[in-house]
Amino acid sequence: MYLFLFKDNNFVLKTEIRIFVFFKLDKNTFMENTKHTCIVCKRDENEVPLIVMKYKGQELRICPQHVPVLIHDPQKLVGLVEGAENFTAG
Ligand SMILES: [Zn+2]
Repeated sequence: MYLFLFKDNNFVLKTEIRIFVFFKLDKNTFMENTKHTCIVCKRDENEVPLIVMKYKGQELRICPQHVPVLIHDPQKLVGLVEGAENFTAG
């Protein structure tokens, strides 16, 4: 297999393109999935009930176990939610 790849550069190029397309599709699929999961634990609606919130034109979801984080410790959401550094604890 290795020797074959060396002999046929076109095959190597085609393989690289296929890998690139695969990762691009995979990333898109991942991004689509993250929209429907808890922003903290990433569990989806099949695993836990999710509360839907709207923020800066986006729909975010959070599970009941992580609502206290949103209320009392929102700094833990920095890096998970855009603009979370501006959230204040209640
Ligand atoms: Zn959660």
